Amino acid sequence: MYSVPLLRQDHEITGYFYNPNIYPRREYEKRLNDVKALAKLQHYRLLEGEYEPDQWHDAVKGFEHLCEYSERCRRCIMNSLYKTALKAKSEDFDMFATTLTNSPRKKIQMLDELGAKIEEKTKIAYLRTNFKKKDGYMMSIRLSKALNIYRQDYCGCEYSLKEKENFQEEKVKNG
Ligand code: SF4
Repeated sequence: MYSVPLLRQDHEITGYFYNPNIYPRREYEKRLNDVKALAKLQHYRLLEGEYEPDQWHDAVKGFEHLCEYSERCRRCIMNSLYKTALKAKSEDFDMFATTLTNSPRKKIQMLDELGAKIEEKTKIAYLRTNFKKKDGYMMSIRLSKALNIYRQDYCGCEYSLKEKENFQEEKVKNG
């Protein structure tokens, strides 16, 4: 919600919701429904990708046991961005970008590197952004509270859900 007005300063935008990583399905639907509500509120067209968890599992195969920020995440994000670029190309857009740069848990350098690789492979331009800048993350939290938009408390995949649950258990144990 914070990135949309910023992008609009220079671009016409279309949203694309492609998140085969999200587990379980009811969480996927919850996030999708709120993105749909936002798209209506912010007046942009939203395209919906396939929910294909099996394809996602193939993309991170062999790296499931690693933690957040690891090669597992790099592959997961590569998968989403690559599919986004292909969608942008098939819809004849000039470029693609990601709202992930609003997250303090995602490194801009890694996103830029992946974006550049995909740009080279697909021949569609990756728009480098940093939606964390100028307090962007805090702004997005404030906006979601004001608009009563759901904010997830784990990244998305079943492994990040487990990591969150383990963390909470540890916290309870340690008082
Ligand atoms: S923690 Fe997030 S980025 Fe990493 S693999 Fe899971 S869903 Fe993807």
